[in-house]
Amino acid sequence: MRVGVPKEIKSQEYRVGLTPDGARELVARGHEVLVETQAGAGIEAGDGEYEAAGARIAPDAASVFANAEMIVKVKEPQAEERARLTSDHILFTYLHLAPDAPQTQDLIKSGAICIAYETITDDDGGLPLLRPMSQVAGRLSVQAGAQSLEWERRGRGLLMGGVPGVAPAKVAVIGGGVVGENATQIALGMGAEVTVLDRSPAVLERLSHRFGSSLKTVYSTKGSLEQVVLVSDVVVGAVLVAGAGAPKLVTREMVSGMKNGSVLVDVAIDQGGCFETSKATTHAEPTFVVDGVVHYCVANMPGAVPRTSTFALTNATLPYVIRLADKGWREALQADPHFLNGLNVVDGKVTCAPVAKSQNLPY
Ligand code: NAD
Repeated sequence: MRVGVPKEIKSQEYRVGLTPDGARELVARGHEVLVETQAGAGIEAGDGEYEAAGARIAPDAASVFANAEMIVKVKEPQAEERARLTSDHILFTYLHLAPDAPQTQDLIKSGAICIAYETITDDDGGLPLLRPMSQVAGRLSVQAGAQSLEWERRGRGLLMGGVPGVAPAKVAVIGGGVVGENATQIALGMGAEVTVLDRSPAVLERLSHRFGSSLKTVYSTKGSLEQVVLVSDVVVGAVLVAGAGAPKLVTREMVSGMKNGSVLVDVAIDQGGCFETSKATTHAEPTFVVDGVVHYCVANMPGAVPRTSTFALTNATLPYVIRLADKGWREALQADPHFLNGLNVVDGKVTCAPVAKSQNLPY
């Protein structure tokens, strides 16, 4: 199959859909890979590296779309990319169609086979192609929290791990899933005093088993949450309620009761945020202050570390790309109901129930 990798054009997006190593794997299996010139610039993978892996370099996006049967990307296609999609294409990327009617309509019109990373499932009930980005965001959240605690950044002027004789910062992590577990690991590694809250006893048990007595686990209720938040220096919001917006667990009153210079990192901001005072920010201006409390609410946190994120993403997506290229989309999806869950639009029809429901479309 001819696999095309255009350069990402969404603002502040430096990742790329396939690494040179990923291209090498496909070429070794007899497929052709066509990469837009400079597509790997954000991860310092030059055209020469892709060529050495056996890929061909295309001068622009138009020639990638005109010559490839499958387009592998990171972000949802932007309007000018959607205009290039035809019924001869398979599109494999993050789509997040539910809240995005204009994109959905364009994909329906294109006739392309559109498979979304984020709706592919696995046997454990997880989302294997969202997982790597949650790992990145969880680890980054503590880095962001530690920086935001610095005095010049309007924080309390605290060092996350303290020093001998001086207490470390208190970190609360709300939600102990993929983001929360990764945040916990880094916060403990930095020497912070860490508490995780979750409403799933099984999650608390798993984390307690993994981290032992260095981690405090708390069953999440309105009361326990308020108690922990009010004494914390950094609070990481990492909750997810499947198929729904993030619940507003930390109220404006709780925020105003926190110490001056405390920090909230709302990782769940891409689902609306779990702090009442949150609003989405960008890497260019990641924080703002409400009632003396620093808020970090970047909606695409993995974009800050495009190298790590791209390699983590390709590790997860490549086996699926290979299956699509080897078998064709029908056979690859029919063979695996979890992979089939990734199918969002086919032959001008929406095939993902939550997307159809959210936009009142036939399903
Ligand atoms: P996950 O499903 O692995 O974990 C979510 C956890 O939240 C679960 O353990 C669940 O029990 C817990 N939870 C639900 N309601 C709760 C409550 N009321 N109190 C305490 N815990 C509660 O999800 P994840 O992959 O860790 O993702 C977490 C959030 O991070 C999601 O909103 C996701 O969209 C977001 N995310 C954001 C970025 C970004 O760049 N901002 C990147 C990746 C993920």
